[in-house]
Amino acid sequence: MGIMSSITTMGHEEVVFFHARDFGLTAIVAIHDTTLGPALGGCRMLPYNSDEEALRDALRLSRGMTYKNAVAGLNLGGGKSVIIGDPKKDKSEAFFRAFGRFIESLAGRYITAEDVNTSVEDMEQIFQETTHVVGIPIAHGGSGDPSPFTALGTFRGIQAAVARKYGSADFSRLSFAVQGAGHVGIHLIQMLRKENAKVYVTDTDAERLNHAVEKFGAESVGLDEIYQTDAQIFCPCALGGTINPQTLEQLRCEIIAGAANNQLENEATGEEVHRRGILYVPDYVINAGGVINVAIERQGYNRDRATHQVDRIYDIVKLIFALAEQENIPTYKAADRLAEKRINDLAKVHRPYLPARRRTINGRHQLS
Ligand code: NAD
Repeated sequence: MGIMSSITTMGHEEVVFFHARDFGLTAIVAIHDTTLGPALGGCRMLPYNSDEEALRDALRLSRGMTYKNAVAGLNLGGGKSVIIGDPKKDKSEAFFRAFGRFIESLAGRYITAEDVNTSVEDMEQIFQETTHVVGIPIAHGGSGDPSPFTALGTFRGIQAAVARKYGSADFSRLSFAVQGAGHVGIHLIQMLRKENAKVYVTDTDAERLNHAVEKFGAESVGLDEIYQTDAQIFCPCALGGTINPQTLEQLRCEIIAGAANNQLENEATGEEVHRRGILYVPDYVINAGGVINVAIERQGYNRDRATHQVDRIYDIVKLIFALAEQENIPTYKAADRLAEKRINDLAKVHRPYLPARRRTINGRHQLS
């Protein structure tokens, strides 16, 4: 599929290419859908092999944010930005301030945040030029590290799945296989161990693995062994694509529920998970705690409000299970339908988001 047809077929509202000659900055902002509000999604920085690869990433990820924000109940649309560059060589204050000016020129239709290879420090530079950025330092009214909130949402999603599958909230008779003891994984392990659950853990990083074992009493297993344990619940918290035909042959779990993005290798894998009777909690639903937390910065950050809203992931996951059963469809499809329903319902009362300065009157942009 050509570039232009990708843009039109995926339904994007707006795709903007930026180039700042003096800073060697090339970036793409993809705004997928603003029916629910301004498009929010992180800024990813990678030395892409081609412009086309960068564009495809921006298009795919921004569409994903539309669904994620919609199901999370946020009044936000979906967007994403990609910077084509080497995070080890190209970053500087001027570089990110130039990027901040680009974001400002979109007049609030897109709100940026951290993502792969961008940090809270980078967001602070962007914040010098625009207020349309979240994930800024606590000192500027930001929310800090989102990982504990992502872990909390994941834990709530797991609770909903456990209640559905076993009709009980008792974790002490259950075992979990956690793949990845990083920022999110380690908080999740802590919460599971607090409930006296048995936890198997693996990680490529020996230090992180030891921390999970020594501090929280998890049992260390090998990188491939994690698929073969007797755990009832498999929690992918490392990489995407770890649910695939090869790993499904090894997994003996009854629930898949973890924080990693893009867990299913493809839709066929999602169908196979369903066919095998494994209860899958859709990744973008269960890992929305981080985006919910940063989104609250827009209202003036409040930790209690963030916690309350992240707790709601329990109810959202329950709704998805109910819809999947009612329609006899896999849970990953039910999550998409829930997102589309919310957007379609609210499209009747909302228009695509245009901030005050860019409202159109009689089809012409008016500056206020
Ligand atoms: P992280 O990089 O801190 O942790 C990932 C861990 O996985 C690391 O400890 C790494 O060593 C380990 N790992 C890498 N390859 C592995 C492998 N093959 N087997 C086992 N372990 C492996 O990342 P994170 O912030 O904890 O995020 C974890 C996942 O959750 C990612 O997929 C991320 O995209 C997703 N996610 C994170 C957040 C957040 O708030 N941090 C929000 C939404 C989604």
